[in-house]
Amino acid sequence: MDHRLMTTESFSLRRTRSLLNLATLNTHLILFFTSFAVYLYMGIAFSNTYFNQIGEHAIQYVDQILENTRKQTSYILDQYPKLPCSTTRETLRVATFHSDYAKDIALFNPKGQIFCTNAASDDKFHLYQDILTRLDQSPKNETLSYTQAALTRQYSIFFIFRNSTKYGLSISIPPRYFTRDLSNRLHDTDIYFQVLVNGRTIKPIKSEAMPLRHMAFHSKQHPLEIHFALTFYTYLNYLFKYSWIFVVLYLMVLLNHLQSKKKQIEESSLEHSVVGAIKKRELYVHFQPIIDAKTEKVSGCEALIRWNHPTQGNIPPSIFIPLAQRMGHIRELTDFVLETCMDMYQRNQSIMLGRYISINIDRELLLTPDFTEDVATLCKEYPCFHRAFAFEITENGDFTDDELVVVERNVDTFHKLGIRLFVDDFGTGYSGLNFVRQFQFHTMKIDKVFIKNLGHEPYLTMLLESMLTISDSLNMKSIIEGVETLEQLTILKQMGVSYIQGFYFSKPLPETDLIEYIQRQ
Ligand code: C2E
Ligand code: MG
Ligand code: MG
Repeated sequence: MDHRLMTTESFSLRRTRSLLNLATLNTHLILFFTSFAVYLYMGIAFSNTYFNQIGEHAIQYVDQILENTRKQTSYILDQYPKLPCSTTRETLRVATFHSDYAKDIALFNPKGQIFCTNAASDDKFHLYQDILTRLDQSPKNETLSYTQAALTRQYSIFFIFRNSTKYGLSISIPPRYFTRDLSNRLHDTDIYFQVLVNGRTIKPIKSEAMPLRHMAFHSKQHPLEIHFALTFYTYLNYLFKYSWIFVVLYLMVLLNHLQSKKKQIEESSLEHSVVGAIKKRELYVHFQPIIDAKTEKVSGCEALIRWNHPTQGNIPPSIFIPLAQRMGHIRELTDFVLETCMDMYQRNQSIMLGRYISINIDRELLLTPDFTEDVATLCKEYPCFHRAFAFEITENGDFTDDELVVVERNVDTFHKLGIRLFVDDFGTGYSGLNFVRQFQFHTMKIDKVFIKNLGHEPYLTMLLESMLTISDSLNMKSIIEGVETLEQLTILKQMGVSYIQGFYFSKPLPETDLIEYIQRQ
């Protein structure tokens, strides 16, 4: 069997499977590298902001250390500036002990003369003049200096501040305290850095660094600078740190791709192409003769829609009609069949006179008054409409009580218009007897499943006989569908069946072939 001619389920199954294979390895690679390029571009663009922020934070960090140190020690100036050094020294030692950064503390007077230190010696020495000038210029009366300590002869950072009485403290902070803390802070950034106090380097950048870029940050409160040297590894580290953005970006691009691909597939799916098929006229109608069992002459024919898909070939109505239903295009499809049948009837009026074309009407069209109203208009325009056409309604009976009220109203209108209603595929639905009793059908079309093994399974004959009895008792004619053999025909004739439809007489035919078929009789 042609794999294209399968059930609706197998079509949707195929679609589901193809969803999983939407992106090939090549697509993944393209999406990966595109996302990576975008990420790289964005990363480089934002790197300036990123490193600026780190630099500013480092400066703020050192400013904060100095501020804390001042807070931890400034009480000395409030309490002891005028007391003798012997009294004050103990306080200086305690303050040194408790301070996080101060190694030595010295008190100086308004002239800049240091008169007391935490060390035992009572050496008196002066602060440099430029330090005093900087103190005068500083709004917070504080400054930094990087010089040799008088006591230890070691290069040290001096944090010097004074209060409103012009007495002040000079606090020596070992440079390694700053560099250690900053190294810890910048450790996971791979940034080489250098600290300058008052323009003098307290920690040079390592010579092995091969910087791609330099950045400098200045404290607003102190003569302090931090310089960054950004190397290839710094950038690599930064990009790696934010690689999750790349992953999110890639997933978004992939998702977007999958969605558009899915849309593309859906649009090229049968569901969508069935809509196009109506417009592109890929649909056409065949007519299957319905034969009077007594005379073996054509009493009418059933209009059966056909679809010749440009790539998939002939698609059976059992597949594309449910698709058209799902896409909400069953009305367009029925209109197409109706128009085709009316044209055909008009073209072949003389031959078709006294014969009818039965048209399949979907249950959905019975659930609103729209279709019925349009048919009523057609009946007014074409007074022979009700003689030329009959409607086949499938006995699937899955109407709710509310729906049944509407269906009843529509069926009633058809009766008033004189249109014959055939119940299609009788015996395969759910409601059976109830359905046919309720709607006064003109003809019962007995489904082919009851005919297939006729003559070979005795209970089928009984089943058929009881269906014919029902049809008789309800004053209905009967058409037997799916008659393929002479044996079946003979049995049916013996049963007194009124009409036959099946391959034994003819398959569904194009218009010209049907006309020829009728003329040949
Ligand atoms: P249906 O209305 O019961 O139509 C009869 C189906 O039985 C047709 O299948 C016909 O080709 C097939 N048939 C006729 N004689 C024989 C036979 O001797 N042996 C076998 N094996 N089959 C036979 P088709 O054309 O594939 O249509 C299938 C169904 O699609 C129809 O069943 C009908 O329910 C639906 N359909 C067809 N055209 C339309 C249409 O224009 N509108 C709507 N709503 N449904 C349609
Ligand atoms: Mg039918
Ligand atoms: Mg049928």
